[in-house]
Amino acid sequence: MRPFVPPPRFAAALVLLLATASAAPLRAQAIAERYRAAADSIVAAALRDSSAWNRLAELTDRFGHRLSGSESLERAIDWIVDQMRRDGLDNVRGEPVMVPHWVRGSESAELVSPRPLRLHMLGLGGSIGTPAGGITAEVMVVSGFQELERRAVEARGKIVLFDPQWVNYGVNVQYRGRGAIAAARAGAVASLIRSAASYSLRSPHTGAMDYDSTVRRIPHAALSVEDAAMIHRMVDRGNRVALRLTMAAQTLPDAPSRNVVGELTGREHPEEVVVMGGHIDSWDVGAGAMDDGGGVVVAWEAIRLLNRLGLRARRTIRVVGWTNEENGLRGGTGYRDAHLAELDNHVLAIESDGGVFRPLGFAFTGSDSALAIVRQIGALLRPIGADSIARGGGGADIGPIMARGVPGMGLEVDGTRYFWIHHSEADTVDKLDPREMARCAAAMAVMAYVVADLPERLPRVSAPAGR
Ligand SMILES: [Zn+2]
Repeated sequence: MRPFVPPPRFAAALVLLLATASAAPLRAQAIAERYRAAADSIVAAALRDSSAWNRLAELTDRFGHRLSGSESLERAIDWIVDQMRRDGLDNVRGEPVMVPHWVRGSESAELVSPRPLRLHMLGLGGSIGTPAGGITAEVMVVSGFQELERRAVEARGKIVLFDPQWVNYGVNVQYRGRGAIAAARAGAVASLIRSAASYSLRSPHTGAMDYDSTVRRIPHAALSVEDAAMIHRMVDRGNRVALRLTMAAQTLPDAPSRNVVGELTGREHPEEVVVMGGHIDSWDVGAGAMDDGGGVVVAWEAIRLLNRLGLRARRTIRVVGWTNEENGLRGGTGYRDAHLAELDNHVLAIESDGGVFRPLGFAFTGSDSALAIVRQIGALLRPIGADSIARGGGGADIGPIMARGVPGMGLEVDGTRYFWIHHSEADTVDKLDPREMARCAAAMAVMAYVVADLPERLPRVSAPAGR
């Protein structure tokens, strides 16, 4: 067992607890007792001070959205590096990563028949453009892939519009991902989707899409839910619907970017790391405030709070703003490759990429023994209602290191409004609440600090029964 040295300011509060704690590896029940004072002070400090929201507002107001390859992404990273240094974090740096560079260009979709109307559209990330004069064709509406397969002969030369009912993101996002492939296979000249959104105020939602090498690449774009539904009604009524789609999208050579990193070096085992963060890139609409500027900022705020409170954990706590999650995941894979040699020393990876709304707790992927410990830490978050620890969490950016055995965890929040806003012009800081963000920062700080400070590392494999 490694000796336990409490941070000085909590030493007095912990004397009694230490006296009663077992000398053997810390029992699960002892965790909550041992760290309650620290957890309460973190929560109190977070709730007193709403700098997370203010920082996100400044980030998004100054730099706007942050698509991979854009100047605004790199300027935002420069600013974060500078601010993290001012915060007094250790080893602040950008770690180089090459990222895809897709640019939208000008774009439009206009109904030609049965009446002229400019539609609300967004090209999907990675799509090719159209010829300069656009593509004008009749629209074939289908409710899903099965209907397209059944009616495939009708699709030749047409623009296919996928208008599936909203089920959930996992179901509906498949049309964004694979719609162009399925439509091209049936001979369509372009494909459109109803935006992957759970609620709409006529703002279309963009996002990543795929091509595959076996079929022709055709332009692929999202319409607002309202426009897709209207076209669907027109076709059901027997109207012949035609539209003109014009897109100047193109993919340029890969561009340099960085994962932005800051740390609080561990006081006893600096080589062991708890890593947490979100992705600093965003789509090129809205301001990328919820997805995922907020995720980066609450992790950053968490480490800033720990630093300000003088809570220096046994192990290193590292905050990362991963670049290029949205259209390439190069930040997550680049982090894995740059840190291969120290992945065995990654004790836990925590990601916030589900919005920074009212936190409910975390979802965890790792051994049963580790889950039991994490649940005890979660109990420290009961005062802010963030004590739920579910099984099976993670995040896109930490996925590559989780695949190499690093235990992973995602911040869980009340996601009711997430898909109203996601990847749309509406993703701006006013959708987020300073108090909810402060609670997210508190939850991240408590979880990261306690895991980083436990006398024993979080176990990667479960202890044998009977021990
Ligand atoms: Zn995201």
